[in-house]
Amino acid sequence: MTAAIRLDSTRLAETLARVPRSHELFVNGRFAPAKSGKTIERVSPAHGIKVSTYAEAGGADLDLALDAARAAFDNGPWPAMSGAERSRILHKLADLIEAKLDVFAALDTLEAGKPISQARGEMAGAVDIWRYAAGLARDLHGETYSTFGANKLGLVVREPIGVVSIITPWNFPFLIVSQKLPFALAAGCTAVVKPSEMTSGSTLLLGQLLAEAGIPEGVVNILSGYGPQIGAPMTTDPRVDMVSFTGSTRVGKAAVAAASATLKKMSMELGGKNPQLVFPDADMDAALDAAVFGAYFNAGECCNAGSRLLVHQDIAAEFEAEFVERSRKVVVDDPLDSRTLVGALISPQHLALVEGHVANAKLQGADITLGGGRLESEAGQFMAATVVAQARPSMAIARDEVFGPVATIIRFASADEAVTIANSVDYGLSASVWSRDFDTAVGIARRIRAGTVWTNTFMDGAAELPFGGFRQSGIGRELGRNAAADYTEEKTLHLHCGPRTAWWLPR
Ligand code: NAD
Repeated sequence: MTAAIRLDSTRLAETLARVPRSHELFVNGRFAPAKSGKTIERVSPAHGIKVSTYAEAGGADLDLALDAARAAFDNGPWPAMSGAERSRILHKLADLIEAKLDVFAALDTLEAGKPISQARGEMAGAVDIWRYAAGLARDLHGETYSTFGANKLGLVVREPIGVVSIITPWNFPFLIVSQKLPFALAAGCTAVVKPSEMTSGSTLLLGQLLAEAGIPEGVVNILSGYGPQIGAPMTTDPRVDMVSFTGSTRVGKAAVAAASATLKKMSMELGGKNPQLVFPDADMDAALDAAVFGAYFNAGECCNAGSRLLVHQDIAAEFEAEFVERSRKVVVDDPLDSRTLVGALISPQHLALVEGHVANAKLQGADITLGGGRLESEAGQFMAATVVAQARPSMAIARDEVFGPVATIIRFASADEAVTIANSVDYGLSASVWSRDFDTAVGIARRIRAGTVWTNTFMDGAAELPFGGFRQSGIGRELGRNAAADYTEEKTLHLHCGPRTAWWLPR
């Protein structure tokens, strides 16, 4: 692993020259500064310099955005358009995003500190999701019941739910908004979107493309700003019909409680503490590769991080030794370098929190067999790939979401014990099972309480497959063929033809 991180200032200057640096709010089809004139400055977590300035939305800006979204839904053409027309517009938007893929990717790398090659992959994935959603716009349909007799017909139709508040986190800024917004639009909804105050650039850039694609004014409104100031009212305002939130379980719970006063529909994608179960008959090379990938991908700042490695005791010593060797070679470096695998952590405060988790694990008796703290660098905040071994399932490091490049290894003695440990935390987002034996791989996968379980692979995803969590990892699913339907209400039309049988006839 690189000991001291050197940053290439020429490459940084070239990248900065290619991206927008100053972003206004996007409300009712126009960019404008915040009413208060306030701004938020984003310092690159890798380079330590100011890379973006966003307008800081306040209550007055949110008011305008909600009015615009409400009017675009109640009076506008968008919800009434044919699915084919909305689909055509969403396909056009996907093409426009793809044409600017490098700019979107560079913004997410500069603001979030993620490796540029990974950010490009995320953007390609996002474009694919926009296209999938465009297809679903044409396939939204209900049900009919013709079984109530000759003079009755039951129709269950789907109508767009209305105005949707979309609130997203900083770890996959453009990918996560792409798991929500295109499906809301496919269904005919309008939206107010609030990206994280740390990574708003790519979401605001989307505003530049909407009119060219043919999205009418007011259908999508994008506000950069802080959670308590505008995120919270986005969950309580009566003009909002549904909230689609991705973020921490802590804030997610507060959002659900706040939204209960107006009983909004809630879609919640929250935290995870995802186990990878490795059995003695696994393809060890593949399992190790996935374990390293799962622990350090996106610097571990990933809801899906496979950071809880449950390893059978018969292979644990060998597995741990090889895992440490491979972790040592993970390239932690300047995220603008295309060879970098792990970039910077999102903020100095977050780095300190992650280090605190590791220090606490040590105090509780775990072994830190690699890393454990920050790496020396010219600027920014980078953390060493870190391995916590000899962890017990009851330790905080084995139960809490760490959100840093930290793998925790726990040994198990039997399949039953592995399943018990896997299911023993508050979360249930994802898991993986490594075994060449069909009964072990599939049988254990079925016993794990998580929204996604991979067998002999890790973190594969597809727009066709639903994603979301059991228990405190969330409510509802994103992606998959029901993703647009999720942004609809069902309405029953019960039709009668011919003479009606009277309830009461006067004698
Ligand atoms: P966070 O909960 O701090 O913030 C998420 C968003 O909520 C931000 O836009 C923030 O400004 C906003 N917010 C803050 N306070 C709010 C409030 N009171 N009301 C409404 N909105 C408010 O999360 P984060 O630190 O940005 O992201 C990391 C978390 O996101 C991790 O826990 C991670 O597991 C989770 N995550 C989950 C998924 C998933 O699909 N399950 C995907 C990515 C990230």
